[in-house]
Amino acid sequence: MSATTPIDDLLDLDSLLTSEDIEVRQTVRKFGEQHLRPNIAEWFETGEVPVRALAAELGKLGLLGMHLTGYGCGGSTATAYGLVCQELEAVDSGLRSLVSVQGSLAMFAIHRWGSEDQRAQWLPAMARGEAIGCFGLTEPDFGSNPAGMRTTAKQDGSDWILNGSKMWITNGSVADVAIVWARAEEGIVGFVVPAGTPGFSATDMTRKMSLRASVTSELHLDDVRLPADAKLPEARGLSGPLSCLSEARFGIVFGSVGAARDCLQATLDYVGSREVFDKRLSAYQLTQAKVADMAVELSKAQLLALHLGRLKDEGRIRPEQVSLGKLNNVREALQIARQCRTLLGANGITLEYPVIRHANNLESVLTYEGTSEVHQLVIGEALTGVSAFR
Ligand SMILES: Cc1cc2nc3c(=O)[nH]c(=O)nc-3n(C[C@H](O)[C@H](O)[C@H](O)COP(=O)(O)OP(=O)(O)OC[C@H]3O[C@@H](n4cnc5c(N)ncnc54)[C@H](O)[C@@H]3O)c2cc1C
Repeated sequence: MSATTPIDDLLDLDSLLTSEDIEVRQTVRKFGEQHLRPNIAEWFETGEVPVRALAAELGKLGLLGMHLTGYGCGGSTATAYGLVCQELEAVDSGLRSLVSVQGSLAMFAIHRWGSEDQRAQWLPAMARGEAIGCFGLTEPDFGSNPAGMRTTAKQDGSDWILNGSKMWITNGSVADVAIVWARAEEGIVGFVVPAGTPGFSATDMTRKMSLRASVTSELHLDDVRLPADAKLPEARGLSGPLSCLSEARFGIVFGSVGAARDCLQATLDYVGSREVFDKRLSAYQLTQAKVADMAVELSKAQLLALHLGRLKDEGRIRPEQVSLGKLNNVREALQIARQCRTLLGANGITLEYPVIRHANNLESVLTYEGTSEVHQLVIGEALTGVSAFR
């Protein structure tokens, strides 16, 4: 028997990383293995995850809003942020979701579209993980088409009154602050809503079979009165929330590679010791064809993520490129998870192994931050010049 090649070494992709990239990846990988992986199956099974304690730990590591500058944020490269997403999602998509929603959706919205006062009030505490943010865009009847949203923002003197509801909001019920998008006379506008504001409430959505190690909530806005300075002054129209989604999608391009890698690693370990028909499962050509094909797709996904990371670091990434990365990498990660599941046989359906958990999580990842179909339409429009959304 010859020596095995670690998945990471197959294409020597580390040669494309800087020493800082590798260092941050190693730090988060170690943290994940020591502090997250031992608990993740239980968090997933019970559907109870200690979001506040986790946020504090992630804040201490400097991972919340790490790619933003100033206000206590890390100012890292986009690539380093992507690699962090990859390591967190190698443990569980729910943990990467926590970091994505905090840093790329809630903090980014305030950083990019907020006032100086809003930034100073919220960003340092959010970077430390002391304040948790959520991002309320989706509604019961409007997911892929947020332009149809029914939540309203009406002016009353200098105040604003918000009414409506949001659904599928990650960390909604544990958040200290919600970024809420609503329809005003002037178009879609965003607000910074402190959780204690009268008329604002959040309830947990239960019975999920996916992303169970993540809090998902409904937000209720019942005559929520906000002062004029609660509005995000720089955000105008749908480009406000869409810019935040593009940030979060970028993290998913990397994160999904982490989930797929973890599935393949668990499977390689399994087939190396499992015996069927008096021979190790790894010694069958059918097994090797499967693991080889998965490694090919994983390596391509990793290359794609790194390429998009560099484009983003050079400040020239375009939304359709992020769509291409999200579409490919999540779709392939889900295929890899399902294929790995077959190799684990019946053991593949238990939480003793990470594979079914990743596979179930990736069903959500395929849907949120733009479904696969939405990303196909974005790429299709870029290629043909024709919008086919309607
Ligand atoms: C676990 C989880 C966490 C989430 N967290 C958040 C959050 O923090 N904040 C937030 O705002 N939202 C969040 N979401 C919501 C998520 O972004 C939406 O679910 C997603 O945008 C899809 O919307 P929908 O579920 O309403 O599906 P729909 O929009 O109803 O889509 C249903 C199907 O129709 C397809 N479809 C839609 N439009 C077209 C078209 N033009 N042409 C062809 N097919 C089309 C879709 O691709 C899909 O297959 C979360 C969702 C999940 C599952």
